[in-house]
Amino acid sequence: MYKNMAGSAHPLAPTEIAVQAVPDDERVWVPQAEGVWFRPLMLNTLVGQWCNLLRVRRSGVLSRHLHPNPVHGYVIKGRWYYLEHDWVAETGSYVFEPPGEIHTLMVPEDVSEMITFFNITGSMVYLDENNQHAGYEDVFTKIDMCRTHYEKVGLGADYVDQFIR
Ligand code: FE
Repeated sequence: MYKNMAGSAHPLAPTEIAVQAVPDDERVWVPQAEGVWFRPLMLNTLVGQWCNLLRVRRSGVLSRHLHPNPVHGYVIKGRWYYLEHDWVAETGSYVFEPPGEIHTLMVPEDVSEMITFFNITGSMVYLDENNQHAGYEDVFTKIDMCRTHYEKVGLGADYVDQFIR
C-alpha cells in the first residue's frame, strides 16, 4: 500500500477519466475531413499517445498512412477494411496494427456510419500513392484541433483539458 494515501491512488498519480464514449452532444465530435470526425478520450502528452473514436459517414478511400508505432482498434459500429489486407473489421472486431504497417482505410458503400475506437502511439504518417509523406498527426496536433473546434462551437478551448494527461 502507498504511504500517506488519502484516497485510492498515489498522490502523484494522474487523475482517472470516465466518460460516455459516444457523446450525446454532437459538438464533442471534432471534424477531421469531409464526413470524418474524431472524439478524444485520452490525450497522453507524456508517452505521445492518444485514444479516440473515429467516426466516418462516407464511403471509399479515407486515408493512406503509416504507423511507426503500434495501434489497437475496436470496431463499435459499422465495418471497414484496408486495401492491402483481405480481412474486414466488423462491428465487434479487434484490430492490431503493428509498427511499420502501411495501409489505406476503406469504408464500404453500404455502411452509412462507422465508429471505431483507436489507441494510437506516436504518430500517424500520411502517405500519397507513391509513399511520399503527405502530413502527420500526433497527440499535440490532435489537442490543437480539439482546442480550435471546441472554442468555435462554444464549449470553450479548455473543454479538451479533461482528456489530457
Ligand atoms: Fe491505420
